[in-house]
Amino acid sequence: MNKLGDRNYSLISQGVKSAGSYNPNEIFCYFEEQLYMNESEEIEKFLQWVHDNGKHFGHGNYEKVFAEFKEVTGDKLFTPLHCPKCDSDDLHYKYSAQPPTGGQAVFKFDCDCGFSGSESYTVEFECFFDNDGNAVKR
Ligand SMILES: [Zn+2]
Repeated sequence: MNKLGDRNYSLISQGVKSAGSYNPNEIFCYFEEQLYMNESEEIEKFLQWVHDNGKHFGHGNYEKVFAEFKEVTGDKLFTPLHCPKCDSDDLHYKYSAQPPTGGQAVFKFDCDCGFSGSESYTVEFECFFDNDGNAVKR
């Protein structure tokens, strides 16, 4: 997530109003089910950070506070599968290179905006599976 977004802000602010707190342990129950699954963990961390640091946010500055959270916590501002320059998710992957012997996999891509680069992932061995996609147990 690069931004908190209006939808998330609306959900959170209802919880904040109802519970009078930013503590995710107290307010998450009000809106957790309405959050997108892939965003829920980061939002919980964000609220914990707001709570721990005595921050406040409202309609006028929630993106500013969220950006500060991203900066301070050192989270990457950019999410994979999005161009780090223009945020497009229409990337053209060329090939995946480097067998993950060093625990790293690199995927090169081009974006229509002219940016060309690579995504790098740390990887861990998980399992074997055959060409039909079935896990092979030994
Ligand atoms: Zn781009």
